[in-house]
Amino acid sequence: MIDKIEQWIDRTLKEYDHLKVSCAVLLPEFQAFFGAEVLENSYFVVVDSIPKPDFDELTGAGYDEFLNMKPAGITYKNTYFIQRGFENRFALHFHELVHVLQWQLLGAFGFIQRYLDEIAEYGYDKAPLEVMAYELDSYFSAGLPVKSIPDYVSKHL
Ligand SMILES: [Zn+2]
Repeated sequence: MIDKIEQWIDRTLKEYDHLKVSCAVLLPEFQAFFGAEVLENSYFVVVDSIPKPDFDELTGAGYDEFLNMKPAGITYKNTYFIQRGFENRFALHFHELVHVLQWQLLGAFGFIQRYLDEIAEYGYDKAPLEVMAYELDSYFSAGLPVKSIPDYVSKHL
């Protein structure tokens, strides 16, 4: 099933490829936190409706919360989707970029498996991958001193 989700993700990314924007546009705000390389190799797409996999196999397998979520953003590999109307929220971009780093460090298979397991076991609000992303976007929003987010994520994953 993880493979099936990854194939769906690859198809979806291809479908939206022409609409993606480089996160290099966020360099002025985020370079000190993420570094230029991360931003130049990450992308976002503003959409009217966030694309999510909805296979039958996900139903009733503890993933209902994931299926029913209506998030303002979601990250697939090095690209995140943002619900139109939220594209000017820096904290949301920051949050999704933390997920981009998690995807990179865990690999696609590892991220998908762990993310779904965490949602099933802890619920969305307490899923450790989410908790980390929320803690870091709050850190940014609070205007606290710059720290390397790639270093932080690789140490705390
Ligand atoms: Zn998140």
